[in-house]
Amino acid sequence: MSLNIHYPVPRNARLSQRFRANPQWYQPAFPGHEGVDWAISIGTPICAAADGEVFFINRNPNPKVSPYGIYVRVRHQHGQYETIYAHLSQVTVRENQTVQAGQVIALSGNTGRSTGPHLHFTIKKQGATARKETDYQKDVVDPHPYLDAAATGTPQPTPPAQTTLDVQVTAADGLNLRAAPVIGAVVTTLPCGTVVGSLEAADVTRRKLGQPNQWLWVRTSGGQVGHVAAWHVNVPGAPASTDAPAGEAYRVQVNSPDIPLKLRLGPGTGQPILEDLPHTTILECLESSAATLEKVGKYGDWLHVRTQDGLTGHVAAWYLCLSLDSLTETLDPSVSFGIGAREPEELRPADVDDLERIKGIGPKIAALLTAVGICTFKQIAALTPEQLKTVLAEGGLGGMHIDTWPEQAREMGGAAGD
Ligand SMILES: [Zn+2]
Repeated sequence: MSLNIHYPVPRNARLSQRFRANPQWYQPAFPGHEGVDWAISIGTPICAAADGEVFFINRNPNPKVSPYGIYVRVRHQHGQYETIYAHLSQVTVRENQTVQAGQVIALSGNTGRSTGPHLHFTIKKQGATARKETDYQKDVVDPHPYLDAAATGTPQPTPPAQTTLDVQVTAADGLNLRAAPVIGAVVTTLPCGTVVGSLEAADVTRRKLGQPNQWLWVRTSGGQVGHVAAWHVNVPGAPASTDAPAGEAYRVQVNSPDIPLKLRLGPGTGQPILEDLPHTTILECLESSAATLEKVGKYGDWLHVRTQDGLTGHVAAWYLCLSLDSLTETLDPSVSFGIGAREPEELRPADVDDLERIKGIGPKIAALLTAVGICTFKQIAALTPEQLKTVLAEGGLGGMHIDTWPEQAREMGGAAGD
């Protein structure tokens, strides 16, 4: 167990149904109640139980459609844990929003299949069912040990007086020193090259260096204590860990309008998921520019990338296209075959609309949009003006009046969201 829980409800809330209670209502789906219920009045603020990302919100209160009514799912520690908050009256966060432990994410309610105002809370631990750590399906685990630990206030360990091994930040853009070993609250940002002392045993520290998903407990020369991503530190003087020479790294863009692209620990669909990357997310390639050009858009290839939050992993190259700023550097007929998510011969006529029919889009903008995989009215209709502005600004075309483009695209027959 390694998820520290912040109570999602006020600490004096009355527990109305424990985990595993009333098997007669839940079998055969579950051995009993698949979470914990607190009886609280409608409108009580509900807090995120740990740092994480909101990855799903259901806003339909109809019990026939959603037994959980209005509910929120939050992912923690790159998907190793998940918490669910159900029967809400209102949600106060957005999908994909990063939240911190204790942050209000919703107000409690009585929606869905519910017999009175209450909060239902479930914890899932990735792989727990397969590993037989739980007798519940769908990785549902008993939340009581987590809640008990929160209630007794598990203290933060006291850092030792001496550090063991010096390590150096290798991330070009600097590295966040975080309050906990998760992508959560930031204590300070350490510039590239900063040397900090490890508070963990030297051999443990050495094993973690450069490893994805590992965190190192450190102290700065100024005495600040926190956790850094071990995959962005190395022993002082070691060569940088990325395989793309500094300054040569290409930037690529996620081209997956329908579902988010998965950032995975390794190359392959069987690899653990680290994060969901929404359509148009910009990523830095950690492979050589030649390898990047070779792989982008190619079915079956995987690319080693870094997110703007500094998380590294692998993504399916066929859901990527080159980012516009890469494009401006390489807009040359001899390399244009490598640009764009799909090669022209793969495009069926239905996949391409005449974007120049939208007022304000000329041949240059149409070419840039097509090059990053935005080829249809439907795709433009699905973007917000802010997203479009970001795409264009990255191509050096800032300050355009684009607010009506999505609306025009819808009128051209590109109904979004079907
Ligand atoms: Zn319940």
